[in-house]
Order: sequence, then C-alpha cells, then structure tokens
Amino acid sequence: MWHRSPCCSPIHMARGQQKLQSQQKSAEKAAKVKKQQGHSANDQKKAAQKALQHICSVCKSQMPDPKTYKQHFENKHPKAELPDFLKNI
Ligand SMILES: [Zn+2]
Repeated sequence: MWHRSPCCSPIHMARGQQKLQSQQKSAEKAAKVKKQQGHSANDQKKAAQKALQHICSVCKSQMPDPKTYKQHFENKHPKAELPDFLKNI
C-alpha cells in the first residue's frame, strides 16, 4: 500500500472538493454583487450628468435637450452670451 498516502483518502478528497465548491460559490456571489454595484453606480453617474446638462445658466430652467435649451436661450435671453457648448448645435 505504498501509493496510498493519507492525503489521497476518499474522505480527504471529498472535503477538499466541498471547500472548493463553497469557494467558487462565494466568488460567484461576490462577482454578482460587484456587477450590480458597478451598474447602479454607472446609472447614478448618468442621471447626475443628465440633470446637470440642461439647466439654463440664466434662469435655471431645466431643458429636456440642448436644442430646446438653445432655442430657449435665444428667445428668452437674447442679450446673454450663448454658452460655448450650445454654439455648435
Ligand atoms: Zn433661461
């Protein structure tokens, strides 16, 4: 029985496998949580950008898009200087 070292007994192998499986499971769980966190952080960033993007610098009105903002600016604030980012629209 020279080839049977204690480490290769079926009991030890089963225990090793169980440990491996639980490690894999916790790794999957961690990856899932990480993915979800990353997703929501991205959404929050987008929402924040959107909220900041189209607020009239003169009267603080919220604009749904840059074109509306530009029209609003030209109509309501013809004497104010058009913001640079609206000049190309
Ligand atoms: Zn305005």
